[in-house]
Amino acid sequence: MLQVQDQSLRPLTTAHLAQTMSLLALSNLELRERVLTEIASNPALEMLDERVCPTCHRPLAGSAPCPVCTSPQAQDGLLVFLSPRESGRTAGAVSIDETPADQEPAAPEDLALHVLAQIAGELEPSERHLAAYVLSSLSEDGFLEDPPAIIARATRATLGQVERVLSLIARADPPGLATPGPRQALLAQLDLMDPGDPMVGLARRMLDECFAELGRREFERIGQTLGVSQMRARQAADWIHAKLNPYPARAFWGSGRQAAAADPNVYHNPDIQISVSPNDKGTLVVEIFSAMAGWLRVNPLFRQASPASDEEMSGEWSRHLERASLFVKCLQQRNNTMRRLMKSLVARQKDFILQGDRHLQPITRASIAAEIGVHESTVSRAVAHKSVALPDGRIIPLHRFFDRSLSVRDRIKEMVDLEARPMTDDEIAARLRREGVSVARRTVAKYRAVEGILPARLRHARRGAPIGAQA
Ligand SMILES: [Zn+2]
Repeated sequence: MLQVQDQSLRPLTTAHLAQTMSLLALSNLELRERVLTEIASNPALEMLDERVCPTCHRPLAGSAPCPVCTSPQAQDGLLVFLSPRESGRTAGAVSIDETPADQEPAAPEDLALHVLAQIAGELEPSERHLAAYVLSSLSEDGFLEDPPAIIARATRATLGQVERVLSLIARADPPGLATPGPRQALLAQLDLMDPGDPMVGLARRMLDECFAELGRREFERIGQTLGVSQMRARQAADWIHAKLNPYPARAFWGSGRQAAAADPNVYHNPDIQISVSPNDKGTLVVEIFSAMAGWLRVNPLFRQASPASDEEMSGEWSRHLERASLFVKCLQQRNNTMRRLMKSLVARQKDFILQGDRHLQPITRASIAAEIGVHESTVSRAVAHKSVALPDGRIIPLHRFFDRSLSVRDRIKEMVDLEARPMTDDEIAARLRREGVSVARRTVAKYRAVEGILPARLRHARRGAPIGAQA
C-alpha cells in the first residue's frame, strides 16, 4: 500500500526538484521571461496586479516591502527579505543587461565537453588524457594556472605535446581558453583573426607593449608608445573591448569589467540589493528583488469550475491545474532558497560587503550548502547568473562572494599603487608573508598579470617617463 503511494509520488517529486533547480539558476530577467511563457501557455495560472508580500502574501500598499516580514528582529544585524519590487526597474535605471544567451557563462563541466568535442578529431589517442586534464584544470575564467612544464610532469606527456594541446584548446570556441591570463587570452583570440586587418595588427601591438596602460585607458601614452594618434589608440581600445573577451570562460560582465561596474545605472539591474539600514547603521538590509510585479497564483475559478461532463477536457483541465500549482510551488521554493542563501552569505561576508575585496572570507559553496541544508549544486545554481548591488553602489556577480584569490590580488594592487619604487615580485611576496598571507613569488607574478600590472623593471621605465607631457 505504502509502496504504491510512493510510486505515484515519485514523478511529482522529481518534476518538482528538477523545475526548482532550473528556476534557481535563472537571473530575474530570465525568470521574468520564463514566468511570461508559463502564463501564456497555461490558463490555470494568473497574475494579479495586486501587490502582495512574496513571503506571507499580505496585500501591500505600493511597492513598499512588507512591514511584518521586514520588522527588525534581533538577527545579528541582518535583515533579508523577498521584495515585492522588481529588480532595479523601480529606480528608473536603463538596462543594457540583455546579454544574449550565448554569452552567458557555461558550467565548467559543459565547457570542457564543448571544447573536447571540437578538438577530439585532432587529438592523438595519447593526447586525450592530457586534453581532459587541461580542460578540467581551467579556472572559472578559463585560465590555466600551471605552466606547461608542470602539466607535462603531471600527465607524463612531453612539453611538445602539452604545447600542441594547449594551442588546440586556445583556438577552439570560446577562443583563448587555457592561456595564463587575460593578455594572453586576448592575443590568442587575435591569432584567429585576419592578419591583414590593420586593426588586428594595432591591437596586437597594444596588447604586447601597453597592456597596463590599456587597462588604465591612458590613450595619450599608448599613442606615444605606438606612434599613433590618441584617437586611433582609443579606437583600437574600443575595438578590443567590443571584439575580444579577456575572460574566455566568463560572460562579458562581472569582475573583469570594473570600469563598467562603477556605474550601476548604465550597467545592469541587480537581482539583489544590499544596503546599510538608515535606522541602524549596524544592520545590513538585503532585498531580493522579484522577477515580476504582481502576484502569480493558481486561478481559483479554474480550480472550482471543472468540466466534469467531458472526460478529455477534464484531463487537460487537471493537467493545467497540476502544472500551475507545481510552477507556483517551485517558484516559492526558489525564493526561499535565495533568502536562506543570502542570509548565510551576507552574514559571513559582512566585512567584504562593507570594507571591500581584501576582507573577502575564503568560503566555499560546500560550506554554505551545509549551513543551509541543501546540496552543493543547489548553491551553485542559486549563485549562477545573479548580480548584487553593494552599499557603495557597485554591482558585482554573486559568485564574487566566493573568489578566494581576490583578496590577495586586491592587496597586491594596492601595494603597487602605493609603492615608492617598483617592488619585485619577491619583495611583494615577502611583504604579504609579513601580513600573514603565504604566497609564492610565482603566484604573485600570476596575480599581477591578472590585474594587468607590469613587472617591476617595466613599472620603473613607466615612472621614469615624463608624466603628462603634452605634445
Ligand atoms: Zn510579509
